[in-house]
Amino acid sequence: MRVGLGYDVHALVEDRPLILGGVEISHTKGLLGHSDADVLVHAIMDALLGAAGLGDIGQHFPDTDPQYKGISSLELLKEVDRLVKAKGYLIGNLDSVIMAEQPKLMSHIPLMRERLAATLDILPDQVNIKATTTEKLGFVGREEGIAAQAVVYLIY
Ligand code: MG
Repeated sequence: MRVGLGYDVHALVEDRPLILGGVEISHTKGLLGHSDADVLVHAIMDALLGAAGLGDIGQHFPDTDPQYKGISSLELLKEVDRLVKAKGYLIGNLDSVIMAEQPKLMSHIPLMRERLAATLDILPDQVNIKATTTEKLGFVGREEGIAAQAVVYLIY
């Protein structure tokens, strides 16, 4: 049994789509980044890599590499899943939390769970996603960015 932790933050800016958990969400701002800046998927990838002892996403997908510009993070997640499974691990479950003041995310979570589960070849029940505000405190509360945390449990 192995556990891994992931954390990520991206800035909210105008004229970018907001993509969380592989789902495009209608909002006035989106996340800035080299890829599609899906902060939840990035946290999950780091948790998976951490649990498998495979480093972090910066090592595997450098943001200086043009092949990752604008890429869907689900494609990167698929590659991380391949690396984890190549080491002989199976995903037991993962749990995560998105920290965002706006927009309200609850109604989008079922589709995020489906997309992530399909990408990882597991059941939606194994992919838990929670959302919280930070009570208007800090960069999240000021709507300057969105943060995400994830933990993953791997079985050998
Ligand atoms: Mg990131």
